[in-house]
Amino acid sequence: MIYQRTISKKVSVTGIGIHSGKKVTLTLNPAPVNSGITFKRVDLPDSPVVKADARTVGTTENNTSLGSGVSAIHTVEHLLAVFYGLGVNNVYCEIDGPEIPIMDGSGASFVFLLREVGVSALHQPRNFLVILEPVRVEVDDKWAEFTPAPRLIVDSTIIFAHPKIKQQNLKFEFHCENFINDIGRARTFGFLKEVDMLKRKGLIKGGSLANAIVLDDFNVVNPEGLRYRDEFVRHKILDTIGDLSLLGHEIAGRVTTYKSGHNLHNLLCRKLLDTPQAYKIVPATVLQKEAVESLELSFATGSLYH
Ligand SMILES: [Zn+2]
Repeated sequence: MIYQRTISKKVSVTGIGIHSGKKVTLTLNPAPVNSGITFKRVDLPDSPVVKADARTVGTTENNTSLGSGVSAIHTVEHLLAVFYGLGVNNVYCEIDGPEIPIMDGSGASFVFLLREVGVSALHQPRNFLVILEPVRVEVDDKWAEFTPAPRLIVDSTIIFAHPKIKQQNLKFEFHCENFINDIGRARTFGFLKEVDMLKRKGLIKGGSLANAIVLDDFNVVNPEGLRYRDEFVRHKILDTIGDLSLLGHEIAGRVTTYKSGHNLHNLLCRKLLDTPQAYKIVPATVLQKEAVESLELSFATGSLYH
């Protein structure tokens, strides 16, 4: 039996938005079964609420945002990846600004927060979104594709004309512990030569060596260096898991990406949702016994329970 989860108690964290540069406080609250992940902008009149859903995604330039206009919530992907990574399905998030705090540029702080507060099982099985046939999206030379697989596998390839990145590929078979150790700590990255251009667009106002890997023409600028030799593709997998979590269910399928970004991830989710024969939603209770066992293994996070 695999149950839905929420967090065990309310917890808050304060930090700055990497793009807005604004200080924000994010408060996570336990939420009931089938409520999913919701965000409430408590700083705005009427406190608008937006649900984390592939179809509520607004802009996807350098981050994934939910909603639109002044009530949008930016840079949700790392937090959502951590919820998915720790098997947490239902959380009511309150935020007093336009962007999730970037913390150290990875999911590590959110993993720490959730482990501190603990997760609780709810008395309702979780659902799985099972990929039944291939679905693919392409934009120029970039592409992303779902194909059937018994559990979530993310196979990512990135290519950057930089001597510290070049081409990196990693196939990640999802498992909670692997997520925490191998993906959750991988930081976002940016190029020094693009800083002025991005700032003119109103982006990365809060970016610094404390919350991103920064690359000059030849090297990593951060004095501490990299956390993994291939930290860049690991971060791409973190982003991919966060963006695909917006499908709203655990995924039993393989996603293969080539030079992908937030826009392509969202296009893939929307195309899947527009292709009903390509997937089915299955409660954990009716999955075949072998499948349940393998998925239970992937969410075996007993140490998180309080
Ligand atoms: Zn990211």
